Amino acid sequence: MFKFFTLFALFYSTLFSADLTIIDGFQKSDNFTLKYYDDENSLLTIDEIEKIDFNDTLPSQFTMGYKYDNVWFKLEIENTSKNEDFVLYFTESIWSILDLYTKENATWKVQKNGLNIPINDRAITDSSPAFKLHIVNGNRSVFYIKGNTIASQIGEFELYTKKEFFNPNRVTLTEWYTIYAFVLFIFILLNLYNFIIIKERVYAYYMVYVFTYIVFTFMHSGVYISFGFPNWQEGLHVLGQLVLSSLLLFSMEFLKLSKTYPVMEKAFKYLAVGAFIFALLLSQNIPYSTVASNVFFSGTLIFIVYVAVNVLKNGFSGAMYYLIALMLFLPAMAMMAMNFNAMLVNNDFTRYMFLAGAFVEIFLFTILLTNRYVIMNNTNNLLTLKTMELENIRKQLTIEATTDILSGLYNRRYFYDISEKYYLTAKEQDQNLSVLMIDIDKFKDVNDTYGHYVGDNIIESSAKILTKNIRKNDVVARYGGEEFIILLEDRGIDKAIELAEWIRVEIENNLITVDNGDEIHVTVSIGATQLHHINDKNIDETIKRCDKALYQAKDQGRNIVSSIL
Ligand code: GH3
Ligand code: MG
Ligand code: MG
Repeated sequence: MFKFFTLFALFYSTLFSADLTIIDGFQKSDNFTLKYYDDENSLLTIDEIEKIDFNDTLPSQFTMGYKYDNVWFKLEIENTSKNEDFVLYFTESIWSILDLYTKENATWKVQKNGLNIPINDRAITDSSPAFKLHIVNGNRSVFYIKGNTIASQIGEFELYTKKEFFNPNRVTLTEWYTIYAFVLFIFILLNLYNFIIIKERVYAYYMVYVFTYIVFTFMHSGVYISFGFPNWQEGLHVLGQLVLSSLLLFSMEFLKLSKTYPVMEKAFKYLAVGAFIFALLLSQNIPYSTVASNVFFSGTLIFIVYVAVNVLKNGFSGAMYYLIALMLFLPAMAMMAMNFNAMLVNNDFTRYMFLAGAFVEIFLFTILLTNRYVIMNNTNNLLTLKTMELENIRKQLTIEATTDILSGLYNRRYFYDISEKYYLTAKEQDQNLSVLMIDIDKFKDVNDTYGHYVGDNIIESSAKILTKNIRKNDVVARYGGEEFIILLEDRGIDKAIELAEWIRVEIENNLITVDNGDEIHVTVSIGATQLHHINDKNIDETIKRCDKALYQAKDQGRNIVSSIL
């Protein structure tokens, strides 16, 4: 009988135990569970909510990712202590609604909170939601909280005695953030000093970067609300993109991309503009811009690392310092992003580690930038930079010397060089080698009728068709005005004629729109031949034969393929 009663009592107590029991000596709790209910269509009233069984529980520190619907929390507190006044605090300011409902004498009392409520209209003046709770000694009270946010459903509830909450010695979350921002601001001043002395753009970008990051943390902390920016729901995401944009510009300068990796300098500029555009879209609450910008953000961070690694590989050791500085920052940022998307559990580590990561990063970069002339500009690095610069100039000159500007194909001079090599390889390996010469028919007439500009367009688009139809190891060049030549590696005459025929038809079917709206097309005549291993003493002899085949095609009436073996 006794056993039965204890079992019954146990059952009874688990069924009716409060989520949180306050005992004497209680000052603060940030580790309890509460119940929640997801109102998927955001339709239910508090009276309906009261009738619902809350079957799901949640730790007081939680993340549910981006959901956009109303979520209800139910918290039951039993007070066995003498204290009767408490404060329920919520760590995140980014929720647009966070209203607490209490039933008193059969009517609901509401404390409205969240971004939608101006800070001065709140029961407790704090940029994060905070509620006054009164629980009579010996009583058990139930509280319902309705929440909604367009950011992530993430946060932490904390219960304090009223005395502890307003204890002047307690360092609040807001104060932590402010101290943090203040220290970072000193770093900005250091870089301002550097900028004034050294006058390099990198310092200016860096100051902008750190500054946007500080504002970003203010967005996280909610401090900005007291600066008069309430209701800016997308502020956090907007600032995230601005941080990214300035990080790109800073990295571009720090890695000296103009010398070390010129193509990427442009790419970084475009990406910086992209991030800025995302910031604008987000600030206007354009649909799906949050998701799109999150993808863009993470993709770009990975891309930045990829470029820095390549710059390092190419010999610029300054990139190593850059990567070391980013080492803690990037994983911490990634962790925060995953936490916000409910891909990681929400705890103090996943939630606040980015602050430490960013701090170390900014600290290291500031040291690096201050020692720039020692570290980055030592003779070794300067030499590497000069060498890389020369290498890039050399590459550019090679491209200019071998390429035809209008068509983007190799020019005739380069074709001579390379055709000789193809000839020797074919001989050595006893392989086939075929040549095609392509000449646009009656091109003079096209120029005369439609003008040179249209003529140029036709040369360009014909070149594209040729490039598209050859394999990687084949060569196509602009041989003369409206004349092209193709070398087909390891291809006999049959295959060459087949390809020539294909090209002839494709060019014939390719329509070009001229100024008056007319669509015109041109035809080509093509000569084909293949290397004669015994008779051809050099590639010129093969090319001459191909030229003959082209004349033959012209003679036979144009728009045909003609071959000579
Ligand atoms: P066909 O080959 O069928 O015998 O006649 P055609 O009129 O094409 O022959 P021709 O070789 O006499 O004329 C080629 C013309 O191509 C002459 C020149 O005005 C034009 N041409 C050459 N290079 C360019 C160029 O870069 N742009 C333009 N628009 N025209 C060019
Ligand atoms: Mg012609
Ligand atoms: Mg010609």
